[in-house]
Amino acid sequence: MIERTPYPGGRAFSFVDRKSGLDLDNGQHVLLGCCDEYVGLLDRLDVRGGFRFQPLLDIPIYHGGKLQHVSSRRLSGPLHLLPGLLRYGHLPFRERIRAMRAAPGFLHPDAMALDAQSFGDWLRQMGQSEDTIGLLWDLVGTAVLNGHVDEISAGLAAESFRIGVVAGWKRARLGLFTRPLGDLAAEAIARLQARGVRVHYSSSVARLDVRDGRIVGLRLRDGSNVPTSRVISTVPQDAFINLLPEDWRLREPFSAVQGLRWSPILNVFLEYEEPVTDHEVFASTEMGGMFVFNRGRLLPESRRDGRWLSVSVSAAGAFRSLDHAEIVTRVTRAIAGACPRARSAKLRHASVVWQPHATFLAAPNTWTSRLDAKTPIAGLYAAGDWTNTGWPASLEGAVRSGRTAAQLVEIAETAERN
Ligand SMILES: Cc1cc2nc3c(=O)[nH]c(=O)nc-3n(C[C@H](O)[C@H](O)[C@H](O)COP(=O)(O)OP(=O)(O)OC[C@H]3O[C@@H](n4cnc5c(N)ncnc54)[C@H](O)[C@@H]3O)c2cc1C
Repeated sequence: MIERTPYPGGRAFSFVDRKSGLDLDNGQHVLLGCCDEYVGLLDRLDVRGGFRFQPLLDIPIYHGGKLQHVSSRRLSGPLHLLPGLLRYGHLPFRERIRAMRAAPGFLHPDAMALDAQSFGDWLRQMGQSEDTIGLLWDLVGTAVLNGHVDEISAGLAAESFRIGVVAGWKRARLGLFTRPLGDLAAEAIARLQARGVRVHYSSSVARLDVRDGRIVGLRLRDGSNVPTSRVISTVPQDAFINLLPEDWRLREPFSAVQGLRWSPILNVFLEYEEPVTDHEVFASTEMGGMFVFNRGRLLPESRRDGRWLSVSVSAAGAFRSLDHAEIVTRVTRAIAGACPRARSAKLRHASVVWQPHATFLAAPNTWTSRLDAKTPIAGLYAAGDWTNTGWPASLEGAVRSGRTAAQLVEIAETAERN
């Protein structure tokens, strides 16, 4: 494994904040009950205690200072959401009924056929009002797909809701990390090393060497060459294109990958002098939709329950031009709107963490821009959250893509041996 940075984790890493001395993640991550492969991978590597699932999906949602819940019951299929939707008081009763009527649209979506359309337009076609879109679909959808409804493809959005939200109460449960992400990655890598995987940190691949349509080696930034006939690339989409020889970049399917754009995520970590919330997690419609995690409770060793919060704003491009002080002002105001105790609590630390290249933007017409694991270059396999997994950019998608690529390598090696 060749890794450019001196640490493991990729886009799910941790660091110690110099100001506060606290362990921060580059961004709060969550899982859903449907993330089987990610959970399975940590299990196989014997990495324990990294997350826990809510017994049932339950997200408190604040809007205009009022609290309602998006919640689930132990009922099969999409039925698990219906009682919660019926009680979702941020919407008038008739809008709740309309939202329920939209649910069957998520059961068997033809993702490819819907890909050219925006999620917003598709929802409007299904009779969803702007309020229902803003207070329900956009709030949840942006957290899952890192793009607002009018920026993202109805195909991937509907498919993601099918996989994770309407598939049943177990699959829709929220999984919350209880250790810093970087610790999990470091432990996973240590287990791989113990099984014989050689890991080279601070080592960057500069170019893939391709001869007569096959991989023959890697060139590293330090000028050295690594002869090899098989490579699984796990770098992000733009890094992948840069590794290809120039004459391959313009050929299909590689040229289409260049159509994928990035979408940013903003995280703000706040440490108050005293507890301001009893929730473990909640959402607010402020800041274009934000999710707030009680990091002090989730990471029990911090002993900061209710005082140490991690605020995540997905698809946060609208805030990119603001300086950190202004971002902290807006976020603390939004927290105070939901948590009355935060109005008088003293803020001890605030750290703003921008991830401009958080995930690819699942824009309309990008389904076919995602590359299959088997590429037209013999011996080159593509993995990563941006490849053709059918999942949104996620830890689960990344793990699935890696597994598919590894299986293809195994098949090729078995065929060669025979
Ligand atoms: C702030 C934030 C919040 C997120 N929230 C969630 C969430 O709640 N749930 C969820 O499931 N997902 C979430 N994601 C997305 C998730 O982190 C990514 O989908 C996942 O980590 C992608 O994994 P990957 O292996 O495809 O790519 P990466 O993690 O980007 O790994 C690629 C690796 O390649 C290395 N690399 C790049 N170029 C080279 C080179 N030339 N040579 C050698 N190495 C190179 C990089 O350093 C990196 O380590 C979030 C992402 C961010 C940034």
